[in-house]
Amino acid sequence: MEIDILSLFPDYFRGPFDVSMLKRGRDMGHFDIRHTNIRDFAENKNGRVDDRPFGGGPGMVLCPGPVARAIRSVKKPGSRVIYLSPQGSLLTAAKCGELAKYEHLILLCGHYEGVDERVLQKEIDEEISIGDYVLTNGCAAAIVLVDAMARFIPGVIGHPDAVQEDSFQEGIFDSPHYTRPENFEGMEVPPVLLGGNHAEIRKWRKAEARKKTARVRPDLLLGEHCEPLTIH
Ligand code: SAM
Repeated sequence: MEIDILSLFPDYFRGPFDVSMLKRGRDMGHFDIRHTNIRDFAENKNGRVDDRPFGGGPGMVLCPGPVARAIRSVKKPGSRVIYLSPQGSLLTAAKCGELAKYEHLILLCGHYEGVDERVLQKEIDEEISIGDYVLTNGCAAAIVLVDAMARFIPGVIGHPDAVQEDSFQEGIFDSPHYTRPENFEGMEVPPVLLGGNHAEIRKWRKAEARKKTARVRPDLLLGEHCEPLTIH
């Protein structure tokens, strides 16, 4: 997969994509990330790409011309163009699995009050939000999307079962995890996990996962009939 990230701050991305599984996934050729600075498409010498909103009001708006040119500089047939926006549909594990199937994603990161509506209407396939809050710009949202989505690209996570057993795959949370030592400051590992009975362990894990989901996110249990997500 190829990913083009369009933003005003390509430097923002130094670090998150250069460590751990994302670095490994890139090094192994499972996906590639390129950065485009929207400022490079400014119409003026000082690189200004924002202007005051028509109709008045606070803040600045990203102008349509530079944004359109930045998108078109990387767009090709089959590209999926996404605007990271608090007004988008919420990013979910199901959406991440869906996005991982595209050959080419273009992620537009806004800033200031946002992006001129006309370029969104013209060039964007969908708007995605990472939560019901407002960030100062879309870069952190692009990092979250790439990180969560890359886990669904075959080969990025060494053991595909690890993804299948994660929270949300079957509509509920993952179960609690324990490792050595068996006794930590007086707290014992649940005996069922030490007994070697895998049917019992599966049953216990499912029950614990449901219990925590019911306590923290009862809304998720309404979707329990959902098909488990699969990695293509
Ligand atoms: N005025 C906009 C509104 O209230 O809908 C908010 C603009 S926000 C300050 C600037 C940029 O941050 C947006 O253009 C978007 O790219 C990004 N952004 C902010 N919150 C986001 C969220 N929850 N999810 C994804 N992107 C977000």
